[in-house]
Amino acid sequence: MADKCPEGTTWQLVKCGSPTKAPHKREKTPGVCSRTKGFCVPPTPDWTCWQHGKDYVLVKNPRHFKDCADAVATFNQEAAQGQYEANTQPFLRYTNPAPKLVKADGQWTASTALRWSVDASKTIVNLPDISWDDMSDADKAAVQRATDALLAHEEGHVQMAVDYAAELSANGGDKVTATGATEQAARDALKQRIAARGQEVVAELGKRNGAYDDTTQHGQTQSSLPGGVDARLDCP
Ligand SMILES: [Zn+2]
Repeated sequence: MADKCPEGTTWQLVKCGSPTKAPHKREKTPGVCSRTKGFCVPPTPDWTCWQHGKDYVLVKNPRHFKDCADAVATFNQEAAQGQYEANTQPFLRYTNPAPKLVKADGQWTASTALRWSVDASKTIVNLPDISWDDMSDADKAAVQRATDALLAHEEGHVQMAVDYAAELSANGGDKVTATGATEQAARDALKQRIAARGQEVVAELGKRNGAYDDTTQHGQTQSSLPGGVDARLDCP
């Protein structure tokens, strides 16, 4: 491994989370992450913390109810208002290699190929942590089943982001090009084009997630997909 580093770089083991990972704002119970990974340095390692070996950070939001029926009624009411207890905020990022600049017919063309990936430290899966007083074993099992099914639904959103990033990065990457009268103008135009591309990608991913939620009713009809389990709290 170490001997594979290019000239002028050295192999270093970097502890997960350092130096790039800042504590996440919504991370209520940050996991202790002690993995290390080797990098050829420079450049600065850009390795996000893959907590629990997943592509996301799981945030459990406590929800306390009077009883199971109260939980079901509350969730139904919230769903009717378009509020869903569980949700996923996928975060795609790209690496942007130095642009290639070519002058032809008095015009400069700047081009690069973006490589997309899911930023695991910024992809947040929110799940409710459901409870009520004096839960029986059957209550706990019902909550566990519903929560597991919800998580499976949310992992579907994460997987969609992973697949989309792979799709964009296939065949040499996501090519972007811009032109300008001068080299600098072409560079500036490319920057703008990349920013616009970022918005297109976010919009497309949003569309895909919306279609998935339409099909699965945010997990309630997850069984409409192969292997899916409906996310529903069935009171014992
Ligand atoms: Zn969903």
